Amino acid sequence: MEYFDKVADSVRTTAESIGKKTMDAVDASKLKVNAYEINSEIKKRYEALGRIVYDAKRGDFNCDVVIEENIREINILYDKLSEINSKIARLKNKTCCPKCSAINDNEAIYCSRCGRRLSD
Ligand SMILES: [Zn+2]
Repeated sequence: MEYFDKVADSVRTTAESIGKKTMDAVDASKLKVNAYEINSEIKKRYEALGRIVYDAKRGDFNCDVVIEENIREINILYDKLSEINSKIARLKNKTCCPKCSAINDNEAIYCSRCGRRLSD
């Protein structure tokens, strides 16, 4: 009887750990989709910004307010992207650079993109 309890326990533990791994994978891919969407949104905003500047220069009118507004929105998108990248890094057991939000190995001492020191 005791033997079957142990087997049942071990099966349960394995199932739980597989379940958790699957959850992490699902979360990571959801986050990647999210990051991709935000990246395309940022691209669209840049394009719109270019169009605004072009139209303004061509028509010789002032569009500083609209430009400021667009830049503010792009900054918000970059903040969201950096938040998502650190979540992905945490799920992958990696670390996200606080300066440029590049994803580095946990053991990395310096960021592979910007060179910032990551550990003490
Ligand atoms: Zn960096």
